[in-house]
Amino acid sequence: MIDGSTRREALARVADFHLEEGLEWAPSSSVQQVFGEDVFSERVMRERLPKDVYKRLQRTIQYGEPLDQAVADTVANAMKDWALEHGATHYTHWFQPLTGTTAEKHDSFLSPDGQGGVITEFSGASLVQGEPDASSFPSGGVRATFEARGYTAWDVTSPVWLNRSTNSVTLCIPTVFVSYGGEALDKKTPLLRSMDAVSRQAMRILRLFGTDAGVRRISATCGAEQEYFLIDRHYYFARPDLLMAGRTLFGAKPAKNQQLEDHYFGSIPERVQSFMSHSEYELYRVGVPVKTRHNEVSPGQFEIAPIFENANIAADHQQILMAMLKKIAPKYGLQVIMHEKPFAGVNGSGKHINWSLSTDTGVNLLDPRDETHTNTQFLIFLCAVIRAVNLHASLLRASIASAGNDHRLGANEAPPAILSIFLGDMLEDIIDQLARGAVNKTKKGGSLDLGARTLPQIPRHSGDRNRTSPFAFTGNKFEFRAFGASGSVAWPLTVLNTIVAESIDYMATELETAVGDHPTEAKLRTASKNLLKQVIKDHRRVIFGGDNYDEAWHKEAEKRGLPNLRSTPEALEALTTKTAREVFKKYSVLSPIELEARFVIYSEQYIKQLLIEGETTLQLGRTCILPGAMRHITQMSEAVAATEAAGMDIGELRDSLDDVVDLARRLHVGLCDLDKALHADQPEEPAKHALYVRDEIRPRMDDVREIVDALEGIVADDLWVLPTYREMLFVK
Ligand code: ADP
Ligand code: MG
Repeated sequence: MIDGSTRREALARVADFHLEEGLEWAPSSSVQQVFGEDVFSERVMRERLPKDVYKRLQRTIQYGEPLDQAVADTVANAMKDWALEHGATHYTHWFQPLTGTTAEKHDSFLSPDGQGGVITEFSGASLVQGEPDASSFPSGGVRATFEARGYTAWDVTSPVWLNRSTNSVTLCIPTVFVSYGGEALDKKTPLLRSMDAVSRQAMRILRLFGTDAGVRRISATCGAEQEYFLIDRHYYFARPDLLMAGRTLFGAKPAKNQQLEDHYFGSIPERVQSFMSHSEYELYRVGVPVKTRHNEVSPGQFEIAPIFENANIAADHQQILMAMLKKIAPKYGLQVIMHEKPFAGVNGSGKHINWSLSTDTGVNLLDPRDETHTNTQFLIFLCAVIRAVNLHASLLRASIASAGNDHRLGANEAPPAILSIFLGDMLEDIIDQLARGAVNKTKKGGSLDLGARTLPQIPRHSGDRNRTSPFAFTGNKFEFRAFGASGSVAWPLTVLNTIVAESIDYMATELETAVGDHPTEAKLRTASKNLLKQVIKDHRRVIFGGDNYDEAWHKEAEKRGLPNLRSTPEALEALTTKTAREVFKKYSVLSPIELEARFVIYSEQYIKQLLIEGETTLQLGRTCILPGAMRHITQMSEAVAATEAAGMDIGELRDSLDDVVDLARRLHVGLCDLDKALHADQPEEPAKHALYVRDEIRPRMDDVREIVDALEGIVADDLWVLPTYREMLFVK
């Protein structure tokens, strides 16, 4: 049980941290040497597999050719030897169930040899397929609990790696997770299907433009920038709300928060820097190419970003990255907090998804190049994305909906819940030209004269950035900035790939029909011009270059008919529409039942999260906050009585006692009210239940919080048991 002294102890231990535990970790070898060391990489495969087996496996990895039993056995054996040499004892099929985190069940390589000893064994069958009990994973009704069977199947496109912990090494095999009937029970299966869909459609455009030579596949690429908070672990354990709900349910804004704007890009505190380098080192080892690190806007907030990769691999690496940060932080006495809004009053954490399309020969299809107006193929892809976001804004919004992200979207720090696209001056100018019918010039940025002769002239981009846009073109990729920090990128990537595949399909079909069986360059030019003009006319309402935080834009967006889905229950409704069912079905990404399952599961997650928050508010309110306030009242009343007994006039001080009493009384009433709402009969149907928790639970929690935060400013510090924002946010 925490009490005031726990908080004090935590404070003392934080100050002592450097003395007690030291920051003595030092890498055993250089970063270049260590990169990918724990990955069963292509290089390892080439070294360890017979040539024909290696070739067969590469064909499976690159072109999806089926893997036969004999090849699988040979691969499994080589993998086992490699893993054992690196100290592994167990292997696991690692997958991403619909919980948003990852799952693993470990099996050892050991088997009895029948003579009282053991042999190490790992067959092709164990590599390729697993059969975990699926009954305790969310299935959204896809599979009745009594039909517990689920299968994991090796995803050959994602590298196998070694997961190290203090005294064990485990071979991790990335897999997909499906039900007995073959329905996707995970986030990876639909992502892989959406990668196929977008590749198939984009290839048609390349064929039309004659740029397909040597290209066998087109991949969506993703680089996800991860924001997170770090706090001292001693505080973490003294904050049951952080432990239970991942965010603080109470906490008054400290006098100094982010108003000085001195944290962003500031020098990184020593302890944090040590933690970052250690995490990066371990990430390099498992082949996650992290590149960028810096302080973020809020005190205590940081960012780590990798170099982009094919989206299916990036999605796995993103999960590894989050897990790694959480694993390494405690070694430095730190706790990583991934929640979208752990602390009220300062910025929350997002995860910007940078996204593009790339050929397997390395050409970025969203690179406008210098004379953009002549790059018709780029303009086709660009307009396909514009069309997709306009047509399916609600679906895209649904893909980033969660209880945590509801705190960010719409607050003046993160893009609003209205999805619009920022293109920048150069592209907006081209869009204008296209809308008028003919495009004949590309606006140039020129160069920037810095005024001093010793300073170089630097080239200037043809447009500024826009930090307020939820979906911004940033030079040669789109940046989907509305996603929250804690989620798996797999789901928003799946949605984005699918809706873009649909738009590219539409554009390819229009062009193919227009040029007919005897295509010529002239025919293609005219057809493209007409198509671009029409697509821009129909979909340009989604383009917006101004300040997305501005109230005027929200009104304007409403006039333009753009959806503004403020909360998760509203947003998730998009998954129940005919449009959604059709687009996912047409590109074989999700069957209607798989889609329905996602609606149910994401609604349930929202409900459960809010119920946990509600219960935690209630418990903390009753067992920590109210008793502290009452003790304060007791001490103050005694002081008042003593003062008056001594014949002195207490004067205005009595008002202050009245204030605390009033707040304590209101707190009690607020908690009873919340209690009632939490324990009333609640609707069973997920959509209605989600609305119930949104409208009946959350506002009551907010009311309680307001009172508690007011009390925090009055109650004696030694009677206040929860570590304060002032203490937690300034990590040193
Ligand atoms: P900023 O914070 O200015 O947006 P960063 O450099 O922190 O920029 O992050 C940019 C991210 O975009 C990186 O992860 C980078 O690898 C990624 N990125 C760059 N090019 C592409 C691309 N073609 N496709 C997907 N992601 C990309
Ligand atoms: Mg960014």
